[in-house]
Amino acid sequence: MCKGLCVYPGSFDPVTLGHVDLIERAAKLFPNLVVAVLNNPDKHNMFTVEQRMNMLSRACAHLTNVTIDSFGGLLVDYMRSANAEIVLRGLRAVTDFENEFQMAQVNRQIAPGIETLFMMTSPDYAYISSSAVRQIAMFGGDISTLVPPCIIEEIHRVFK
Ligand code: ADP
Repeated sequence: MCKGLCVYPGSFDPVTLGHVDLIERAAKLFPNLVVAVLNNPDKHNMFTVEQRMNMLSRACAHLTNVTIDSFGGLLVDYMRSANAEIVLRGLRAVTDFENEFQMAQVNRQIAPGIETLFMMTSPDYAYISSSAVRQIAMFGGDISTLVPPCIIEEIHRVFK
């Protein structure tokens, strides 16, 4: 098990089975994992920060060493304030790589003590994204293979 606090930051708009899979796997590697919802007023999110945190809390209720938080501003500032050293990000396809590579390099430049770790998606979830969930839900489609069962109703409610 790795020492230190690990933070998994993201929009989680909404959390998907792909995110939960990553969280479950990381929760086995770190004593404590914080899933941190980015509060970015410039980005138009479908769900409020409170809704996104609430859905994450329910999706992760079975994981006792996982806590849900939110942050605004720079990730590295949040990491420092939380006394955390490890950022976790997920990779689905090469298309993720370019952005993630750039972000990790910039963060390393401005905060050399903070390490970014990447975990590969499980093949079953490689095609799942929050944007796909939003598009399908917008038209009342079946999202049961994309998100945890406990949040399906809430997602449909927001799109009604
Ligand atoms: P972002 O933080 O870029 O707005 P998300 O909130 O959707 O995007 O995702 C947070 C992190 O989870 C990112 O590192 C993303 O690559 C990763 N991720 C998203 N979906 C999956 C998935 N299906 N499998 C593995 N990792 C994923």
